[in-house]
This record gives sequence, structure tokens and C-alpha cells, in this order.
Amino acid sequence: MKIRYFDHAATTAVKQEVLKEMIAYFSLEYGNASSLYSIGRSNKRVLENSREKVAKVLNCKPKEVYFTSCGSESDNLAIKGIAKAHKNKGKHIITTKIEHPAVLNTCKSLEKEGYSVTYLNVNKDGIISLEELKDSIREDTILISIMFANNEIGSIQPIDKIGLLAREKKVIFHTDCVQAIGNEKVDVKSLNIDMLSLSAHKFYGPKGVGALYIKEGIEFEKIQDGGHQEKNKRAGTENIAGIVGLAKAIEIANNNLEMYNKKIKGLRDYYINEISKNIKDIRLNGGIEKRLSGNANIGFKGVSGEQLLLELDKVGICTSTGSACSSGSPEPSHVLTAIGCPKEYIQGSLRVTFGEENTKEDVDYLIKNLVLILNRI
Ligand SMILES: *Cc1c(COP(=O)(O)O)cnc(C)c1O
Repeated sequence: MKIRYFDHAATTAVKQEVLKEMIAYFSLEYGNASSLYSIGRSNKRVLENSREKVAKVLNCKPKEVYFTSCGSESDNLAIKGIAKAHKNKGKHIITTKIEHPAVLNTCKSLEKEGYSVTYLNVNKDGIISLEELKDSIREDTILISIMFANNEIGSIQPIDKIGLLAREKKVIFHTDCVQAIGNEKVDVKSLNIDMLSLSAHKFYGPKGVGALYIKEGIEFEKIQDGGHQEKNKRAGTENIAGIVGLAKAIEIANNNLEMYNKKIKGLRDYYINEISKNIKDIRLNGGIEKRLSGNANIGFKGVSGEQLLLELDKVGICTSTGSACSSGSPEPSHVLTAIGCPKEYIQGSLRVTFGEENTKEDVDYLIKNLVLILNRI
């Protein structure tokens, strides 16, 4: 059966052009970038070239880019790295109620170590209040960590304004940008971002490789002991093949932002319109304006989202009931809860995220089957 994939917020397939660039580094060009002989030195150059490519997209200096193993590691490193280095200044961190578990659970673990965390509310569209943020900043606040775009409902935060406020109050600002890279233009300078997490597998790069941007001059401590890789900030032999893939994927994504957004927004809006016309008692979770172009999260009243997902899977359609990280858990989504979604809709929520390989025909197939299933169950 042909697979129709509508779960691009969970992961994406590696692009052929990306894979092609990576292949050599698994077995032909296998040198350790820290080794001093030529096949090590040449991989060191490849590593630094990749860093330059990422820096160009983010508009930062290459030396401000640190490679990691994934988005979750970047989030851990950012938050714990700041917490550790600034604990004498203060132990207060501000984040939101709708962060990815990589941020939320990192904050929870710091709470156990005596840090205090403010979890900002969001409105029905999934957007924070700048007033509430401003009022939450204290003398001992060392970090604001607010995601660029949400993985469940696609809501996009006013990052420029948050950046300005953080700058004004002299608080370090980290953003989990894992969902936004490849979808939104991200310029760390003009947005006043101090730290930013990204992950290759969310923008048609390989799994198991990510990066953290850390603005020059920010005091920061490593959280993993070992060798001196990544300027002594992240120990571990560099994943050259993965890093080459990440750099190639971010470069392609950045060159195609406009066309890509136009395409997936067209499919997304078509899907939402058709479902609205054909199904009663639905609600779009999150606002439509400040939302990632490829995200549709719709609550179907009184049905089980999980049952929908499984029925769709039987006809070759991949979707999600929320975040991949929390599916399988009986807890209602913390994001849908935070936006005030009524219980009878939370249960029946289905996240559909569009991407590169989707066609209008695929979307028609999705709509047809979803309507059939909803009429049956
Ligand atoms: C996927 C995701 C992560 C985790 O990235 P991994 O590379 O899978 O560890 C973190 N934050 C957000 C918003 C994500 O969507």
C-alpha cells in the first residue's frame, strides 16, 4: 500500500541531495576531525564548512554554532548550561506551559535542584502575553526559554518582541526553534536571540544531529564531560556525516522557504476548508494567523483521536494525535489543555502536518478517508 505521510512535525525523510552528500563520510572519509593526519584534517575542514553554512542561515558567526546529537540535547545544553553558569546570579527561569518535553522536563529537573521556574500561560491561539512575561522577570531571572513555534498546534510566538524585552532587561533568551527552522525566516541578530536549538530531522535532514547557537560572550557551562570537541562545550566525536547532512538540509530549506511555505499552506488551507465543509462539531486548535504553514490540528467532538489515527493508518495515512513524544501516554495534551480546548475536543484531536512530498491528490485521499471514517465511528 502506498504510504501518505502527514506527520512532518514528528520527522521528515532525508532528501536525496542531502543523502548524496552524506554517504562519503560514513566509510570513505572516516577520519576523526580531531586527528592530525590528513584524513582527520580534511574532515575538520568539512566540519568547519558545515558550521559556516549553518551560521549563514542563522546570521551569526560560525564559532557561535555548536553541533549536538539532537534537538533535545540542544535544549538540555542551553538550559542546564546557563543554569549552571549563572547560579550565583540567580536561579529563576521563565518558560511557557506549551514547550516541548525537552524544555519542560529539563526545567522540571532543575526545579528539583532548587531552581524556580515560571511557566507562562498562553491564550486560545497558543500565544504568550508579553505583559505577563514582563511581569514575571525578576532580579534573579537568569534565562527566558520560549519556543519559536509549537510542535502540536504550530503557534508562532512574537519572538522579535520577546528578544527586545529580554535584551532590555538583560536576561538571556533561548528559543527552541526545532519546528520553525525550514519553515520560517530566522535571523538571530535582528530577533535578539541569544541561544537557539535546531534539529536536522525536522527539515529533511538526518536524525540524530542538531545544533545549538550560543551568542559570543554568553557565559555557559558544558553539561557533558569528555574531550575538547566543540570548543570544549560539547564532548564527543563529531558526527561528520550527520553534520554534513544538517548543513546541506538547512541550506536547501533556507533557499526554498517561500515556495515551500506557499505549497504546504495551500494544502493545509484546502484540508481545513474541506473538513469544515464536510464535518460538524469540529474546532481548529490554535489560531490561523500566527501559525506554521503546514500545521492543522483539528478537534473532532466526541471521537477518539487515537482511533482515528489507527483507522487512517489502515489505509496508509500517517497522522498524529498530538506530539509524537507524548502519544502513547494517557495524559491529555498539555498544549491543548493550556489553550483551553474543551475535553470532548482534546480527546478527538488529530494533528496533520504537511510537507514536501504531499500532493493535492494525497490530500484528497486523506479528506475522503477521514470523512468516511468519521461517518462510520
Ligand atoms: C522534535 C522537537 C524537539 C526534539 O528534537 P529531537 O531532535 O527529536 O530530539 C524539540 N523541540 C521541538 C519543538 C520539537 O518539535
